[in-house]
Amino acid sequence: MSTPIKKKGLPKTDGQFFRRFREGEKPSDWDLEEKIFVGDTSYKCPTYVVKTPPCSASCPSGHDIRGWLAIARGMDKPADENMSWQQYAFDRMVKANPFPAVMGRVCPAPCEDGCNRNVVDDFVGINALEHYIGDWAIDNGVKFEQPVSSGNEASKKVAIVGSGPGGLAAAYFLRKKGFQVTIFEEHEKLGGMMRYGIPTYRVPRDKLDAEIQRILDMGVEARTSTRVGRDVSVEQLEDEFDAIFWAIGAQKGRPLPVPGFDECENCITGVEFLEAFNQGWVYGTAKKIVVVGGGDTSIDVASVARRLGHITEVRKADNIDGKIGGFTADDVAGILRREGVEAVLTSLFPIDQMVAAEHERQEAMREGVRIIGGVMPLEVIKDENGKAIALKMCECKMDGMTPVPIEGTEFEVEADLIVAAIGQYGDFEGYEDFANERGFMDTDAYFRVAGKEKHFAGGDIIRPHLLTTAIGHARIAADEIAHYLSGEPLEKRPKVDVAHFNLLNELAQRGKDVQPYDGAQVMGTCESEWAVHNYEDRSSSEVITHEEMFLGHFTEMPRAKREEIPVDAERVLGNFEERIKPLEEEKARYEGERCMSCGLCFECDNCVIFCPQDAVHRVPKAERAVGRYVFTEYTRCVGCHICSDVCPTGYIKMGLGQ
Ligand SMILES: Cc1cc2nc3c(=O)[nH]c(=O)nc-3n(C[C@H](O)[C@H](O)[C@H](O)COP(=O)(O)OP(=O)(O)OC[C@H]3O[C@@H](n4cnc5c(N)ncnc54)[C@H](O)[C@@H]3O)c2cc1C
Ligand code: SF4
Ligand code: SF4
Repeated sequence: MSTPIKKKGLPKTDGQFFRRFREGEKPSDWDLEEKIFVGDTSYKCPTYVVKTPPCSASCPSGHDIRGWLAIARGMDKPADENMSWQQYAFDRMVKANPFPAVMGRVCPAPCEDGCNRNVVDDFVGINALEHYIGDWAIDNGVKFEQPVSSGNEASKKVAIVGSGPGGLAAAYFLRKKGFQVTIFEEHEKLGGMMRYGIPTYRVPRDKLDAEIQRILDMGVEARTSTRVGRDVSVEQLEDEFDAIFWAIGAQKGRPLPVPGFDECENCITGVEFLEAFNQGWVYGTAKKIVVVGGGDTSIDVASVARRLGHITEVRKADNIDGKIGGFTADDVAGILRREGVEAVLTSLFPIDQMVAAEHERQEAMREGVRIIGGVMPLEVIKDENGKAIALKMCECKMDGMTPVPIEGTEFEVEADLIVAAIGQYGDFEGYEDFANERGFMDTDAYFRVAGKEKHFAGGDIIRPHLLTTAIGHARIAADEIAHYLSGEPLEKRPKVDVAHFNLLNELAQRGKDVQPYDGAQVMGTCESEWAVHNYEDRSSSEVITHEEMFLGHFTEMPRAKREEIPVDAERVLGNFEERIKPLEEEKARYEGERCMSCGLCFECDNCVIFCPQDAVHRVPKAERAVGRYVFTEYTRCVGCHICSDVCPTGYIKMGLGQ
């Protein structure tokens, strides 16, 4: 993963447009006068080198972001004229991740931190475009192609344990390859933490259901309400299936390691609270709630509590402990009055260093959650009946990840409910031998479970992180499972392991396949049809930095932002509406235009215009494809570097020749 540019605090281009170098600056190899202008042979001539953009390298699921932004801006058009740009972009997106509508809503978008455009003005709205395309596909009933199963793939069966993003994505990638796939899920419904953790106002369930159904429609079998280790044994799975992928997530919350927490009924974990809420088992909460954490889960607990409120009056006949399905705050008959909840969220780290995304933190504060940073819990204070009534805390300093208490700063926060949202681990009941000492699973570089022949694993159970990370694991593990099932050796992964641009695919989809090369040495290769001339694909090993680009080409364009419906402290009670709206089409395309196409030609014509030798030409229209837009006439080129200096995307490198 590349270093997020935003965090490096680099200066913007300060309006220094149309110049590559600042006054007095010159490229390191600009002593070429002798070699180019005096010498009678060309020193170095342009080659076309594709690299991975940092947005993709920062996306844990490895999206080909530059690819779908080029489609949005209309540069990369579908070969089939009847196909819409949205469908074409969707097809490109789901090469890496089958959940664009969910990602577009709740992914904290590390890709945007990595985006080179941060150096010019502001990152490209990658997540917003994903949101737009995801919703467009749902609204237009887009389905995945039915896999054509034959031969080895059709005869092999893979079991997937768990149906969170990791399990469902693995099912999708493996089914796409033609394998028979069966998901085992303990819950009644599929989705994992997308359904039983993240609340509805962040992931609307109709969108989630649509994206899951699309995967099931590919012919994936799902056995719900079935726990492996209880209803089905590991041995049964091993007998029935050729490979097993474990995506069981981290279902158990860690209790607070302070005296009193384990003994009180009104001390629970964040995942317990959210599961109960998402199952529809709670429809009101305590008057004063303290949540200890600092990550996404703690924010969700505090924000849900603020929405649920505290029920002060119910009709006598109502049983408020009972289970009610399909909960919405508004349709709970019988609740006569609910009032606001005091929600306090505490974090070991200072507020600005909390783990939760800044945006979510700001929203929570606006909704009336009080956040106290730089404090640690010491003890649960109980009343005479053994009920927790307060949490004793003190200020602390962090020594790495260890809090160091500051003496004399102790204080108490009153609480009717104390929630620990300080981390999770796996539930290994029924297959204890799969757990390591920290409550997770160990895998090798191929996502194979250590010491278990046909078992693979990914997602939170190997490293708790994000939805997109679990999906990235699933994509890679599916490739390795396919190798394993074909009896091939597992494949070493490239250094930059993302869904890459592939020039040969680009050519093939336009009916311009290159001819196979027999390996023989030939002269006059410029006439050959088996190569893409002077082109090099370094995307598996190199990420392009903004230093390699001509940023002066780009003028400032403010980012198109999604409309947000602010929910303030006064309006939060009972408000389970979604807070963000998708971009309109025009704005989605505009964000495509803002993409600087780092590391790949975006057809700006600078090299054609600025070459003083008239040595750079456009490829004839009938021969063009993305990445094959210009060519150099090397007999005219004197190696002056101008084309490479004015190439905004860093695609042209001086390399050919001596
Ligand atoms: C409250 C909360 C909020 C979050 N918010 C965000 C966010 O905004 N953005 C983001 O990117 N990430 C967020 N995350 C993290 C994200 O949800 C996880 O990283 C992701 O869901 C992990 O996916 P997974 O497939 O590994 O596991 P999970 O989503 O946990 O799914 C695991 C599934 O396996 C099932 N299972 C477990 N054991 C068995 C068994 N033995 N047999 C059968 N089934 C079994 C479980 O029932 C579950 O359905 C959040 C997490 C939480 C808890
Ligand atoms: S999944 Fe997340 S990191 Fe990847 S492109 Fe989407 S928003 Fe960016
Ligand atoms: S400008 Fe475009 S290609 Fe470059 S990092 Fe940003 S989104 Fe990716």
